[in-house]
Amino acid sequence: MPEGDSLHRVAALLRPLVGLSVTATSPHPRGLATGVAAAVDGLRLEGVEAVGKHLLLRFEGGVTLRSHLRLGGRWRVGPSGSTRAGRPWLVLRAGGLEATQWNGPVLTLDDGIVRGLGPDLLADATDPAALVPRLRRADPTRPLGEVLQDQRLVAGVGNMWMSEALWAASVSPWLPVGEARDDELLAALQWARAEMRAAVAGQRPGRLVYRRAGRPCRRCGDPIAARGQGDGNRIAYWCAGCQRGPVSGT
Ligand SMILES: [Zn+2]
Repeated sequence: MPEGDSLHRVAALLRPLVGLSVTATSPHPRGLATGVAAAVDGLRLEGVEAVGKHLLLRFEGGVTLRSHLRLGGRWRVGPSGSTRAGRPWLVLRAGGLEATQWNGPVLTLDDGIVRGLGPDLLADATDPAALVPRLRRADPTRPLGEVLQDQRLVAGVGNMWMSEALWAASVSPWLPVGEARDDELLAALQWARAEMRAAVAGQRPGRLVYRRAGRPCRRCGDPIAARGQGDGNRIAYWCAGCQRGPVSGT
């Protein structure tokens, strides 16, 4: 699933359309059914913003389009009139450019969910130190790996960056958040923010634990462990040898 850094890259792709009035169509029937194209057709795009894993396109008149890509959704931007194989959910044309949204699966004018999100970890104005008290709002018995992915507390982190950040901070995803020290939480947040922002800028992330189950830890040599965590059962990767905390959840 795309994490916050991917959405920031998509936002940067779409920014050349900002300030222009767009022509909007929905070639795909499921896209058409959202009513989004009809609502934004002819409006000027005023801003594009990534908030956590959501992309917000703000149009004149207070109309906001929200896109969440989940696993299969994509945005592409190219010259207007490019040949396409298949039918995108949404096509926005302006200034000789064409932005296409493929496979939804979330394309809506309802941005209410975004108002319930925590601060975007990658935003310029976000201070990781201010996020530590937010993580403390979670039930102290919840595993740290879950808490770091709770988009209501801090937005943008998924299971890849969670696994990597907690390895970098030497704490286990299974450590109850109430037992994590402030400096450990801050180290994980600062590391994730720096690496995700570097990824937005085009740096390819080096993965040290994610999808490395069974391979030796680069720090201590123990095998990397992997186990589903949380309601979504998304896989957490960690090293029991050098990351502080329980070996795994109960
Ligand atoms: Zn290790």
